[in-house]
Amino acid sequence: MMKMSLKIKRMIIAVSDACAGCGRCVNSCPTGALEIVEDRAELINERLCDGFGSCIAVCPENALYIEEREAEPFDWSILSRIDFEVFIEKLEKHYKPLQLQKE
Ligand code: SF4
Repeated sequence: MMKMSLKIKRMIIAVSDACAGCGRCVNSCPTGALEIVEDRAELINERLCDGFGSCIAVCPENALYIEEREAEPFDWSILSRIDFEVFIEKLEKHYKPLQLQKE
């Protein structure tokens, strides 16, 4: 028998119509919660969204925001599957927050 998922209220990323589909947010998300779908970012797995907002920091269009809503609980097990060394190297090389790139 399939177990019903518990929905709880929590902070989660949302994408507005301002999205230009550049993919920076997808590459800055350590958990893989976002993907480009039909030229636009989309939260494809809310269980992988921690609401931390690394995607917000790199979006040139200000298209991402945090909303509080009912969502599946965060999948904490994803944290043990992320290679943070590789992820941080990628961020440092390509995806500094926009404010830091202007310096
Ligand atoms: S970084 Fe911003 S503009 Fe680029 S795909 Fe993500 S939401 Fe869209």
